[in-house]
Amino acid sequence: MAQGFADLHIHTNYSDGFWSPAQVVERVAAEGDLAVIAITDHDITDGVAETQAAAAAYGIEVIPAIEVSASEGRRPIHILGYFVDIDNAAFLAEQERVVDMRVERMRKMVAKLADFGIVVDMDELLAYAHRGIVGRLHLARFIVERGAVASLEEAFRLYLSDSGPCYVPIGSHTPKGAIEMVLQAGGVPVLAHPGTSQVDELIPGLVSSGLRGIEVWHGAHSPEQSRYYASLAKKHGLLASGGSDCHGPGKAEVLIGKVKLSLDIVEALRKAAGAKAAS
Ligand code: AMP
Ligand code: FE
Ligand code: FE
Ligand code: ZN
Repeated sequence: MAQGFADLHIHTNYSDGFWSPAQVVERVAAEGDLAVIAITDHDITDGVAETQAAAAAYGIEVIPAIEVSASEGRRPIHILGYFVDIDNAAFLAEQERVVDMRVERMRKMVAKLADFGIVVDMDELLAYAHRGIVGRLHLARFIVERGAVASLEEAFRLYLSDSGPCYVPIGSHTPKGAIEMVLQAGGVPVLAHPGTSQVDELIPGLVSSGLRGIEVWHGAHSPEQSRYYASLAKKHGLLASGGSDCHGPGKAEVLIGKVKLSLDIVEALRKAAGAKAAS
């Protein structure tokens, strides 16, 4: 059995992380005992291959993954997909559809901010993001740097949080559609950070749609929440997974190192993906 631990939820600057793949790998390697990571950028797998190439020098495995944005009404629900096929043409086409929807959604959010007297130039904002994978964290950074708000915390609290006046859902997927996107790409769908949104009552329906796991351990989960979601995973026959959800410096603290999973969890996810591929 390989030695070490896993962190299965890390972002790069291909979505709204602050670090490039090489910088993520440096930080992961510095941790010393992380043998496996997953790159889970929002709605895109562009950063996976580059991270794998950087990690090879350290003998660190990078699981190809994604965090698919879905919404139930206005409420965001994130579905992680592990061991997805990043060369799958339909999967890549679906990612492109979401990129376009993210840009359109951001235009609407920018228009809402204008109603509050905050003017954002869309082209300048898009320059913060990798080819249209633009999200609320980019927008929050932008208005902090232009002096319209004092901090990221204030940007979300006043305008951009899920219940904020300038939030617009991306609208690209229902939770069922997000699960189907992951399954179609040969991946294992896992519900992300249930402790950060009120999603418990949706879990039975998600299981019927093909959900295979739940993020029990997460950078923002308290020990009590982790215990609670471990029991829910058991109750529904779901794999218990987890990760730090590190976005690098700048969002909050660097979270790499905060969640260290047993490699047994990686093998259970790998087996679930393999069983699906073989069926
Ligand atoms: P989006 O995919 O554009 O809706 O943006 C979602 C991202 O915004 C999350 O992954 C977080 O990185 C960030 N985010 C959402 N809510 C908050 C918040 N209250 N404070 C800080 N960051 C947040
Ligand atoms: Fe994010
Ligand atoms: Fe998320
Ligand atoms: Zn995330």
